[in-house]
Amino acid sequence: MSTLRFRVVEKAFQTKPHEVAVPSERPGDYFAKYVFNREKMFKYLPSDVYARLVDTMDNGAVLERNDADKVAEGMMRWAMELGATHYTHWFQPLTEGTAEKHDAFVEHDGKGGMIEEFSGKLLVQQEPDASSFPNGGIRNTFEARGYSAWDPSSPVFIVDDTLCIPTVFIAYTGESLDYKAPLLKALSAVNKAAVDVCHYFDPKVQKVVAYLGWEQEYFLVDEGLYAARPDLLLTGRTLMGHEASKNQQLEDHYFGAIPSRVAAFMKDLEIQALELGIPVKTRHNEVAPNQFELAPIFEECNLAVDHNMLIMALMRKVARTHGFRVLLHEKPFKGVNGSGKHNNWSLGTDTGVLLMSPGKTPEENLRFITFIVNTLMAVYRHNGLLKASIMSATNAHRLGANEAPPAIISSFLGSQLTKVLEHMEDSSTDELITIDGKHGMKLDIPQIPELMIDNTDRNRTSPFAFTGNRFEFRAVGSEANCASGMIALNTAVAEQLVEFKHEVDALIEQGEPKVSALIQVIRKYIKQCKNICFDGNGYSEEWKAEAARRGLDCETSVPVIFDQYLTPESIRMFESTGVMTRAELKARNEVKWETYTKKIQIEARVLGDLVMNHIVPTAIEYQSKLIDNVYKLKGLFPEDKANQLSAENMAIICQIAEHTSFIKEHVDSMIEARKVANKITNEREKAVAYHDTIAPMLEQIRYHIDKLELIVDDQMWTLPKYRELLFIR
Ligand code: ADP
Ligand code: MG
Repeated sequence: MSTLRFRVVEKAFQTKPHEVAVPSERPGDYFAKYVFNREKMFKYLPSDVYARLVDTMDNGAVLERNDADKVAEGMMRWAMELGATHYTHWFQPLTEGTAEKHDAFVEHDGKGGMIEEFSGKLLVQQEPDASSFPNGGIRNTFEARGYSAWDPSSPVFIVDDTLCIPTVFIAYTGESLDYKAPLLKALSAVNKAAVDVCHYFDPKVQKVVAYLGWEQEYFLVDEGLYAARPDLLLTGRTLMGHEASKNQQLEDHYFGAIPSRVAAFMKDLEIQALELGIPVKTRHNEVAPNQFELAPIFEECNLAVDHNMLIMALMRKVARTHGFRVLLHEKPFKGVNGSGKHNNWSLGTDTGVLLMSPGKTPEENLRFITFIVNTLMAVYRHNGLLKASIMSATNAHRLGANEAPPAIISSFLGSQLTKVLEHMEDSSTDELITIDGKHGMKLDIPQIPELMIDNTDRNRTSPFAFTGNRFEFRAVGSEANCASGMIALNTAVAEQLVEFKHEVDALIEQGEPKVSALIQVIRKYIKQCKNICFDGNGYSEEWKAEAARRGLDCETSVPVIFDQYLTPESIRMFESTGVMTRAELKARNEVKWETYTKKIQIEARVLGDLVMNHIVPTAIEYQSKLIDNVYKLKGLFPEDKANQLSAENMAIICQIAEHTSFIKEHVDSMIEARKVANKITNEREKAVAYHDTIAPMLEQIRYHIDKLELIVDDQMWTLPKYRELLFIR
């Protein structure tokens, strides 16, 4: 009998919410308590150093070594007052997490003692012994070394006793080995390109910032139950488990009352997030049982990415103090919704204008249309790449299932914006422009602000939806580093804006007035990128056929989707904007393929082990009990009667035999298939083999395990079931 399972279930039922120590101050008082933000810089740094550091943060000015020393000294003083003893460069290697190596603030004093010290040199650059981070062949242990370098645009913060310094991680030969370095380059490219385009409308614009507001979905499970599920522990998802009779059919979880144990976790998480300067704002139940969402107020993209990485780590930590485990996997449970991370993205100027927001004057609206249409063009031209940027072994379970966006990138604009674009496309330039004394030009576009108020016609099936003042990239996976999608999107928009300016300038040079040049190019783009716009049901079979006709990327095999990074268009885009070179793209793809293979490989091993150690022995034990019963019936009753009475059990005995033999055979052939695939040396081909031959077997085997779960005596089943995992708080 499975005593462990019953013990953990019982304990999970009885766990009471933990008390949360709520600070007596208001959130405004403890917000960013552990962040060395401008207020603290001002307090802890000499005023001239502060001014130069601000220039570095805002404008990328070089910070002299002397100043860096002063900054380091101020940082250390502040950090030590808050109890920090160590510091670390905090970076985002090409795994899905962050990396850190802690050093104490100590140095020899030259007299046999120790002094507390932290210099500008240590702040600015370090050489982590990072030879085992994924690098796709760029960094061989014996060749180029890697180093981490301070990113002053994201403030340092304290976690526990450690001062964390956000850094990029790059090879000595200059190639990026992380997510942050190319993200910073992409943000700088889009800044430059967008500023140039803004100058058509306002010469005062000096800077354009990309904003990101992520919405993080996640599941919580009781820690004891989690520990009794080796598949959750090792792969982040359940590789087996029959659907509970009740899951999300009644739609009673979405926006429902938050259970008290979960509420205590959320409260604790929010306090700690606010102390780290993460402006968390929204929390609610999600569609699936035990699924929740957390969202902050949007921030500058680089900072938002750091904050998302930080909060994922924080969630894991805080969940454990509440007896939970947080599941960030995109699809921890079959049959209920998976988790995503909607990336709300927009551009804004240093003059305070949100470029994806309609304005009040015709000029403002022409600027609005300019940025919307260029974004659509970028998404259209690089739709395959954008899909590749959010694709992973884990997100593949979610995309294309009837809950998340389909595995085809398209954009939903809503009826109002669609009408505006249609109007613009159809009217001739003369019709569109009328002279309006004071304002100069007036566009005959319906007044957009009033029209935009109604933002309710939302299309949940769209992977890239316009939502009033931003685009919502919904295909991003819950576990992913947002940077990956943000690098692709911002770079694509940067490249597009450069081309747009090029075309408009050419017309102006030919004598075309500015507004009419802008309109001509925009009109051409509206025609060209129409194929990316789709307002219908993204789940339908018709859309798949239609999307293929429109030439949109419909590939569904994860390793093949990664090829998108190496098409001539993608390489041109990344190289022309200075974001990544062909060599970097190639190396990073090696990492993607290798990671894909490893993930499927681990799942296949875990499934094989569970089958041999849990499923088959339990099923056979139960089968033996039934066989025993059949024999005993034969001893008690005449043959006819005994046969009649044991018919049901005989049928179950046969079913168990059929399921277990299928399972065993397929686990064996899965092992053989792995052996074959493992011999392939080319990473891409190996990943394709894992995708084509091994991944489908996981599903086939699971089908039979789940059938067994329904037949076998509940007392004997060792693994916690969905009805326990998903409904216990
Ligand atoms: P939804 O209704 O889509 O679930 P939420 O309130 O959960 O919306 O999250 C929306 C996210 O979008 C928040 O992080 C919010 O700050 C962000 N957001 C709002 N406006 C913008 C904008 N202009 N640019 C980027 N993000 C934005
Ligand atoms: Mg939301």
